[in-house]
Amino acid sequence: MKVFKFGGASVKDAAAVRNVASIVARYPDELTIVVSAMGKTTNLLETLVKAHFNSWDEKLEIFAEFRDFHLRIAGELFGSVENIPAEITALIGAVENRLNQPPSLLFDFEYDQLIGFGELVSSQMVSCYLQSAGIANRWIDIRGCLRTDDKFREASVNWKWSEMLVNNTFRFPENRVYVTQGFIGSTVANLTTTLGREGSDFTAAILGNLLNAESVTIWKDVPGVLNADPKLFPETVLLKELSYREAIEMTYSGAKVIHPKTMKPLHNKGIALQVKSFLEPDEPGTIIHQIDHTLELTPVFITKENQAVLTFSPYDFSFITIEDISNVFAQLSAKRFKVNMIQQSAIDLNLVVDTPEVGLESVVLELRKSYQVKYNTGLTLITIRHYTEESIGKLTAGRQVFMEQRSRRTVKLAVK
Ligand code: ADP
Ligand code: ASP
Ligand code: MG
Repeated sequence: MKVFKFGGASVKDAAAVRNVASIVARYPDELTIVVSAMGKTTNLLETLVKAHFNSWDEKLEIFAEFRDFHLRIAGELFGSVENIPAEITALIGAVENRLNQPPSLLFDFEYDQLIGFGELVSSQMVSCYLQSAGIANRWIDIRGCLRTDDKFREASVNWKWSEMLVNNTFRFPENRVYVTQGFIGSTVANLTTTLGREGSDFTAAILGNLLNAESVTIWKDVPGVLNADPKLFPETVLLKELSYREAIEMTYSGAKVIHPKTMKPLHNKGIALQVKSFLEPDEPGTIIHQIDHTLELTPVFITKENQAVLTFSPYDFSFITIEDISNVFAQLSAKRFKVNMIQQSAIDLNLVVDTPEVGLESVVLELRKSYQVKYNTGLTLITIRHYTEESIGKLTAGRQVFMEQRSRRTVKLAVK
């Protein structure tokens, strides 16, 4: 069995869904197909969640945009509005019902109860379209078998429960093709959870692991993993082969092409991950697998925006101790901060963090009770793997460098 994952760009409109069917039709294999929300639907649903939670009037308008976007695509795929399968309209109706209920006081919980409808509708659309194109398949609501804890918006998989339930649900060869959702799961109490933004790649890897897939392929709008984001760098080269380790380092540093959690479940079972273009399905793309020798790679450029540098120093000019570091990290961890670079001197602890959407000032105020805290926002974290002096010069020319860290293979620079 192979796992295929189709992301937002690959199902962004009716032509894209037809293209997905043409790719699936090329494979006679047993398939588990994981689908993300169509195009930018998750961003739209995020605005809907905020509007619902805050009881803003715009919520009806935003819902209408969500509904009409999907009905237009479904109308094109199934010939007319009257022919749209009831499964699809029922899911859109369920969103409307949810909006008619007053929200609870828990934002993260409310977020997860609405946001996953992007995946539920798109996967149903793909499943029904494949069916109409002669590719028999079974649609699965993944919430029935992918169980998680109840950390809404960033749930962790309950591997034991999920292993049993997933294997009871995806039964090959009873059906040759299954279609399901990325990104979502549910608690043991059947409350919907999500695995974090961009989490559909991770779902594909979880299912690959639990079902012992022969391979996992994620279909993207790029030829594979490149040495930089082609939207930011004019000249890029395809990396035909990567180790799991290299792919983890790249994606953890911010290469958005694959969710960083994707590699571990596949590495643990020795399952290869292919990254292929849904526009050029004949091209080999990138293969990520176990490689024991050192790969000589061209410099790989990764940028991460919205970074902040925080500098902590004790008020009484004493050294930074391990207790200080532990204190600072405990507070940042409780606020779900992500730390991307750490540097310590005698009396300073410097951290580069993702700037949170809201709340940086209040955390700084809290930390200032114990430490002097200075911070700079609006920075970019540049990571260059397999760097050369020339490659560093190219990226830092004319920019102010706030923090720099080098190891044998990687240089990290926080720049303005
Ligand atoms: P999906 O449709 O599966 O959600 P994403 O949009 O998350 O796909 O990921 C694909 C995008 O990742 C590409 O369009 C590209 O702009 C971006 N990207 C960032 N870094 C890289 C890289 N090193 N190689 C290829 N693509 C990259
Ligand atoms: N649709 C979700 C998101 O945009 C999950 C994903 O696409 O991977 O974050
Ligand atoms: Mg994505």
